[in-house]
Amino acid sequence: MKRRNSKWLTLALLPPLAFSGCAGGLALAPVASIAVTGATKAAQASRPISESEEYYLGRAVAARIFSQYTLSRNTRLNHYVNEVGQTVARKSNRPQTFRGYHFGVLDTDELNAFACPGGLILITRGLVQTCESEDQLAAVLAHEVAHIAHRDGVNSVSKARWSEVLTAMGTQAVRQYGGVAGNLISLFEGSIDDVFKTMVVNGYSREAEFAADQEAVVTLQKAGYDPQALSQVLEKMMARQKDNAGGIFKTHPPTSVRLAKVKTTAPCASPPTANNRRQRFKEEVG
Ligand SMILES: [Zn+2]
Repeated sequence: MKRRNSKWLTLALLPPLAFSGCAGGLALAPVASIAVTGATKAAQASRPISESEEYYLGRAVAARIFSQYTLSRNTRLNHYVNEVGQTVARKSNRPQTFRGYHFGVLDTDELNAFACPGGLILITRGLVQTCESEDQLAAVLAHEVAHIAHRDGVNSVSKARWSEVLTAMGTQAVRQYGGVAGNLISLFEGSIDDVFKTMVVNGYSREAEFAADQEAVVTLQKAGYDPQALSQVLEKMMARQKDNAGGIFKTHPPTSVRLAKVKTTAPCASPPTANNRRQRFKEEVG
């Protein structure tokens, strides 16, 4: 399982400049370039994960998700979800990431959504179809965008692990590809494990989930969507929970508790849902 991703991991380790670098030096030059940044080892070992590292970590996590799920071939649906997602992301408190936000639909009946570090957000067809309106879809996506904005994914990389990665990056011997670099890859792989396990198996903390819900309500309002839409979709999810014990229900606090919390914070005044959005949702999702 671990070895299967090793080729990808090698790419994931490369900073962006690697891709504009000289041909043939792909293995050596990028690793060396991240090794010699001028900072002391001690300073390096304590710095947070950068935006570009977050992006590559997210891509590696996404690769693992795609080993379990297939991206929907419904181009229109992917395009639509992307459009709604971009609208929400622009109004979030982190409108820009290293390579921007991307949204996709996973072809499964399961109810789930994943926010890969850096801005790739994947939502299952089952969860899209649980929504009854564009506003409700926007609510689910706004919750995921909030996870990106709060860096919940990268924050699940253990501090000890990241410190080891940075120390390995700072070692001069990393220039000799295959030596420390090999160790670096396995350390980086451990970081991916941390994020993947948190996102897909254990879930973020309850506090992180409630914070993402709160943030989603604010984002919905800023984007012109109904701030009550999150409560509405949580109610829909509760109704489907008894047949879907896994997925999002496994990694999130009880939906009833989320709903109660959201209801106490969402503004009472609910703007009318625009007819054109309702119509568009019906055409695209059915
Ligand atoms: Zn969540």
